[in-house]
Amino acid sequence: MSEKRKFKKRFCKYCEAKIDFIDYKDLYQLKHSLSERFKIMPRRLTGNCKRHQDIVTIAIKRARQTALIPYIIDRKNVVENPFEVIR
Ligand SMILES: [Zn+2]
Repeated sequence: MSEKRKFKKRFCKYCEAKIDFIDYKDLYQLKHSLSERFKIMPRRLTGNCKRHQDIVTIAIKRARQTALIPYIIDRKNVVENPFEVIR
């Protein structure tokens, strides 16, 4: 299944939730914009607005620096839902 299909509806999840600030420690909010390999999802797939995409990008990069999110994932260790490991 292509990744595009999962994000057919185009609306900003963060605008809908009326989130103004995204904490890098709040992985539940960050995971909307992370792919299953912990890459930052591009805006054309998530439908985020520019403002929130910028906020999320900064938050994700901070979370990586603090080792909350891995920079890379070993191909052998790819699991269906990597966020189960985090929780
Ligand atoms: Zn937004």
